[in-house]
Amino acid sequence: MKSESEKALYYEVAVNAPLPQTFTYAYNLAHSLEVGSRILVPFGKRTAQGIVLRKTEDIPNFDLDKIKNILEVYSDFPNLSAERIRWMEWIAEYYMHPLGMTLQLCYPPLTKVGRATKKPIEFSAMQTTHPTLTDEQQSAVDAVLQKREFQAHLLYGITGSGKTEVYLEILEKLLSENKKGLVLVPEISLTPQLIRRFSERFGEQIAVIHSQLTEREKTNQWWSVVNGEKPILIGARSALFCPIPNLGVIIIDEEHEASFKQDEKLKYHARDCAIMLAQALNIPICMGSATPSLESWKNVSEGKYQIHRLTRRVTSQALAHIDVVDMRKKEGSKEGTETSRISKKVSELPAWLSEELYEKILLRLQRKEQTALFLNRRGLSQVVICSECGENATCPNCDISLSLHAKTHLTCHYCGYHEDLGLKCKKCLIGEPKPIGVGTEKVEEDIQKLIPQARVLRMDRDEVNDRLTLEDSIRRIENFEVDIIVGTQMIAKGLDFKKLTLVGIVLADIGFNIPDFRTSERNFQLLTQVSGRAGRHSDGEVVIQTFNPEYSSLIFSKDKNFEGFAELELSQRKELFYPPFGKLMSVRIQSLNYQKLSSYVSAIQKAVAPLAFGAKFQVLGPVPSPIFKLKNKFRYGMLIKGSSSKQIREYYKKLVSKFPAPQGVQIQPDIDPLNTF
Ligand code: ADP
Ligand code: ZN
Repeated sequence: MKSESEKALYYEVAVNAPLPQTFTYAYNLAHSLEVGSRILVPFGKRTAQGIVLRKTEDIPNFDLDKIKNILEVYSDFPNLSAERIRWMEWIAEYYMHPLGMTLQLCYPPLTKVGRATKKPIEFSAMQTTHPTLTDEQQSAVDAVLQKREFQAHLLYGITGSGKTEVYLEILEKLLSENKKGLVLVPEISLTPQLIRRFSERFGEQIAVIHSQLTEREKTNQWWSVVNGEKPILIGARSALFCPIPNLGVIIIDEEHEASFKQDEKLKYHARDCAIMLAQALNIPICMGSATPSLESWKNVSEGKYQIHRLTRRVTSQALAHIDVVDMRKKEGSKEGTETSRISKKVSELPAWLSEELYEKILLRLQRKEQTALFLNRRGLSQVVICSECGENATCPNCDISLSLHAKTHLTCHYCGYHEDLGLKCKKCLIGEPKPIGVGTEKVEEDIQKLIPQARVLRMDRDEVNDRLTLEDSIRRIENFEVDIIVGTQMIAKGLDFKKLTLVGIVLADIGFNIPDFRTSERNFQLLTQVSGRAGRHSDGEVVIQTFNPEYSSLIFSKDKNFEGFAELELSQRKELFYPPFGKLMSVRIQSLNYQKLSSYVSAIQKAVAPLAFGAKFQVLGPVPSPIFKLKNKFRYGMLIKGSSSKQIREYYKKLVSKFPAPQGVQIQPDIDPLNTF
């Protein structure tokens, strides 16, 4: 036993190490350590950094002598508050990630402020006058600010309905009360155009954090917020962890966006974590979208979120007219039809281009307006489709598209169902099922050949792979140095160009058949979003080319009917107990060593519960992933479906303690996965 004079206080510490549990350490000082302090502790044969979670007293007497002393207490960062620590504990437990490692996210990559090479933000001149809010906007602002307590708000309005203006107004009011604001946006919409909107209102009061900043820039931005110099932080998902003092509101734009979910390391969803943070700090959170996630929509219908509708575009500019072109007809009409007004025969057009879209592109060139041709990159070429009738094969058990394996086999990667790829389509008995896909390069090349005088700009991950190139592309489009933009998801979001009056969705089907239960939702969102790019300032048109004109996401999107879509989709999800009704965990099991992997997987396969479709607790798989070999690793996937995350987590923990992964095999859980393949 220690004597009274050297009596220690004991602390529960999260050590930065890949272990789930916390540890107890002693500190031999008269004054106590504060919660949230960063410390150095002995850890095994080495030392490690840790965070003080709380004081602790209930240590069994026989353990006292084994407890080691804290070596050092750092004072280089402000302490994390008890509320934030509890919130981080929730995150670590919910997403099954070591707490000590999770807590590291609250700190910047470097320790001290230093000189950055260039300013990460260009500020624009501040505007002194603001538009008078419409009644709908004003009541949304009032509702969010009414109670300074936790409340989740959903701001539901089409593009251009004035959501951003609502955010600006809320922030301005809170800033005048010396409160701070956090604005989370999808990485891809952190464009100069968005920053400009905020800096026109708040000048240099904003800090920005996104993945393209250098460590130095991130660190400087982090400090400028934490030391109170900048009251507004705008950032992609990781900005959520910056310990902003005196936070008054969290705003999430495009709350439905998949990029809020991180799919490696800590697999968190920034929107869900933000709601928990708002709750922990007892402040309002305002989420905006034109196409809310079905999770949020269900929360609205259950009264958990307050909804505020912005029903009109502020400029009263109508939404673009949408034309759906049936590509199946194109095949037939090819033979010998002479087109009148245009120079090319239909037969000379590339297979992916309809006469309708071609004519409209030419018209834009004449009128000195711009066209964007959009391609969906998320599609997997392993999906097959019948060129005659547009049918694609789906699993009879899971209502999920079947994926093509080894060129001859169609399999369901949820349950393992499989069948042979037939020579003829099962539905029309005429067409041949074929893998589909067309790339941006091909489209760019074809267009350039077809219309040599057009100035074409390609925008995809290969072409535009850093921020400077993105900014340069945006500037070229704004300056009208470009007639036709060919791009992927990158052009779907957040961009706003005055002369862009035509959007062509080249082959909508590529996204229709992705083997995931969220596919219809994604497609509805994407089609709506891409369509929203056309004619934000003058009449716009959208042409959607497809082999499946009857596809429900497409029809609802053409009719601009989100609520109808949500109702139908939710009823289907309910039937199969998919989220937001049931909860899911996807588990990836992978290894470089095929032998080891397959014997481990078959042990699990034998042990897991037998299939029971529609049941409230189910384990599906493990089955080979649609991309079976990636970076030399063989991959299996397993889905666990249950009525609560806790139930699923407990099942998973039991499973891995009974079947620990052998060395060389990794097993990784993903809670609330957005991608199940
Ligand atoms: P959203 O974020 O929903 O796409 P914005 O807030 O960007 O919509 O508004 C669209 C356009 O309308 C912007 O140019 C904005 O400046 C303008 N605007 C928004 N609210 C008003 C208003 N009350 N009066 C006048 N113009 C407005
Ligand atoms: Zn299935």
